[in-house]
This record gives sequence, structure tokens and C-alpha cells, in this order.
Amino acid sequence: MSITVVKFGGTSMADAKSITQVANIIKQDPKRRYVVVSAPGKRFSQDHKITDMLYACYHDLQINGECKATFDKIRERFRGIVEDLRLDLDIDSYLDQVESDMLKYNSAEFCASRGEYLSAVIVAKTLGYTFIDAKDIMIFTENGDFDAESTNEKVKSVLSEVDRAVVPGFYGGDSAGIVHTFSRGGSDVSGAVIARAVNAELYENWTDVNGFMSADPRIVDNPRPIAKLSYRELRELAYMGANVLHPESIFPVRVSNIPINIRNTFNPSAAGTMIVAELDESELKNRVITGIAGKKGYSIIYIEKSMMNGELGFVRKVLAVLEYYNISFEHLPTGIDTMSIVVAENELAGKEEVVIERIKKVVAPDHIEIKSGISLVATVGHGMSYKPGTASALCGALAKANINIRMIDQGSSELNIIVGIATADYEKAIVAIYKAFEDKAV
Ligand code: ASP
Repeated sequence: MSITVVKFGGTSMADAKSITQVANIIKQDPKRRYVVVSAPGKRFSQDHKITDMLYACYHDLQINGECKATFDKIRERFRGIVEDLRLDLDIDSYLDQVESDMLKYNSAEFCASRGEYLSAVIVAKTLGYTFIDAKDIMIFTENGDFDAESTNEKVKSVLSEVDRAVVPGFYGGDSAGIVHTFSRGGSDVSGAVIARAVNAELYENWTDVNGFMSADPRIVDNPRPIAKLSYRELRELAYMGANVLHPESIFPVRVSNIPINIRNTFNPSAAGTMIVAELDESELKNRVITGIAGKKGYSIIYIEKSMMNGELGFVRKVLAVLEYYNISFEHLPTGIDTMSIVVAENELAGKEEVVIERIKKVVAPDHIEIKSGISLVATVGHGMSYKPGTASALCGALAKANINIRMIDQGSSELNIIVGIATADYEKAIVAIYKAFEDKAV
């Protein structure tokens, strides 16, 4: 029988009612054999995510050598969930073990991982599925790097022996048994890794929204939902801040062309967003842009030098300065005599002067300056390559809204046009671009 791997996010795990809903969803389709879960998230806007509380425990441990007060709140949440689910599960003995292990291992990653661990224990019990500890199948190196290939083999062999299982997301372990985590939101990655290993037909990622929207609904009223998008479009949108799915979730499933379906636990009849390897030609022809996403907090290092193009090694020398100061860059649009290096503001913070001085020394530019307070807005869609004039429509829309473009970068794949604008214009720019393409997007 074909397999669907399902992953449920923090809101789906937040209380007994949502966990019951999760169990109903899983039971509706016998293909949903492997389940990955996040730690309980917020129940209401002022609430705390369990993962944040666990990081707070680690912080308390460093300062006071204990974290009882914070851990008691975590204890209450889990006790409440188990009680409301009427589970025959001695959650207190699990919690006692977790509390003492947190003291023993005294690591932020171990502490943070316990939310997923306990969540998975509860869901496994609710469903009557086998609990498999991620520490034993998601393999990290001792440096904390994820080892994708060893994990693939391990998950494949372990799960081939287990008909139905629940696995905690977000963490794994190294050969010494030490727990390591992915970056925040990493349970999405765990689900994708498992989907690849069991050669799933589908990876369903259940969250609390109906899928990807073509723009941020806090900025654009009722943006159009995106029914289908490609892995590459997703990667661009997710990287630029459309945070429905962890941007790294794409790598494992891409290897075997497994589609990802974003679904809403609280509105299971909605089809959600389907993320696939390739879009059909007809789909591409029918739409110009797929979506718009953006991020605040960038600076541009702007460099001018006549005949820059003819100077062998110019770009390399400039980038070597950034590398030396441990600054990574996001974009690098160049002109004939100019280059703009876009970097995250926090990467550059405190290093502005040394970086400028060093660049002056190595390449003697005619002019160099740092433009800060920049936001990036990415307009993404394969359809662009089918429609001439997309860039000019976009620039026209910004000009009409009186927004100055500080940098523009059209990726060579014709999938993405990124503009740098003043952060004060951020929301206005997204609305202007959205309106310019509104009738044509799907
Ligand atoms: N619980 C973790 C976080 O809050 C991981 C996840 O939910 O994916 O980041």
C-alpha cells in the first residue's frame, strides 16, 4: 500500500481538542502510517509555545542551576492534555525523567527537544501507534550537522519493520546519543526526511492555515490562495519569509519528487496548497506570478569603480573581505561599473567601518557607501519566463506608488525578481506589486 507521511505543527498539538482532531484526520486515511509531530504551540495569542518555555528552562538552569518554576508550567500543560484526552498514560513519570535529564545533559538542544518528545509519546498512545524516538533514527554528526544519507538508510530500515509509528520532529541524535536539533520550525524537515526514506507517495504537512497565500494576509486583504506551486517557487517564497513551511523541507522530498500538500487541521476539507516538482505548461501559461514575499532588515554595500568589469579578481577580492569578517551575503547584482552587495543588517552590525576600510584598501573603489534600512521584496513565479514585460510592469507599479527601487535583481532562472526598497515603503510596495498582477495571478 502506498504511504502518506503526515506532519502536524504546534497549533495542532496545542491542546486535547486539537489532538483529537489530529487523530480523526489520521484515522480517516489508512495510508497515513507515519506521523511526525511538533511540540504543543500556542492555544491563544498571549500563550507560550512549549519549545520557548523549554529554552527558558535551559536559561534558568544556566543562571540558577535549576528550572523548577518554569518546568512546573510545562508539567501543567502536559498533565492537562493527558487528562483531557483521558489517556491511560503515566505522564508524570515521563515528566520526572525529562526534568532530571535536562539537568544531566544541560544543553539547550536537549531541553528544546523535549516538547516534541512528549508530544509524540502522547500522540502514539492516542492512536495506538508505535513510538519511535527521533534520537535513534535521525542522525547528526557530533558537530551537530545533519547526516542526510545515514539517516535515510536508518529510517528506511527501522520503519520497514514498523507498520504505523509516531516520531517526534525537530531533533535527532549523534553516535554518542547526544541530542541535536534542526533550526526552529525544523519538524517540517523531519517529516520530509521520513517521507523520502519510506518512499511516500505524499507528504502532508498539517498546519493552521489553508496553505500558501499569494501575499502576506496581514498586508494584502484576502490574498489569493496558491493551489499549486513548484519546489523552486516554494524555496524562493519560503526563503523570503513566507513562513508556512521550513525552507529546508524541500531538499529531502525533491530527491524522489514526493509532492508536499499543505493542509489545515482546523479546516480539513480545504484542499490546501500542493507543492510539486514541475508545473504543467498550461499552468505556467495561465499565470504570471505565483506569489510575493519579503523580508525587512537588510543593508546594501554599494561600490562604484570605473572599468570594474575589466579588473581581474575585483569581485573575489571584495567578497574575501566579507568572508574574512564572517558576513554572508544574500544577493549580488552588478552593473558595468557598480556592484551592490545585499547583506542582512544584523550580519553587518558593528563591522561597517572595518568592512569599508578594508574594501577601500583591497580594490580602491571610486565610491563606496552602505545604504541601510532596506527591505527586500521577491516576486516569484515560473510564469514570468512566458510573459515579456513582467519586470517593467513591476517597476511601473512601484513608480506609480512613488517607491524608489534601491536595488533590483532578476535571477537568471527568470523565476524571481527581487527589489530592494526603503523599509518605510515595505507594505506599500507589496500592495502595489500585488495589485499590478492581481488579475493575472492564480
Ligand atoms: N517546536 C519547534 C519550534 O518551535 C520545532 C517545530 O515546531 O517545528 O521551533
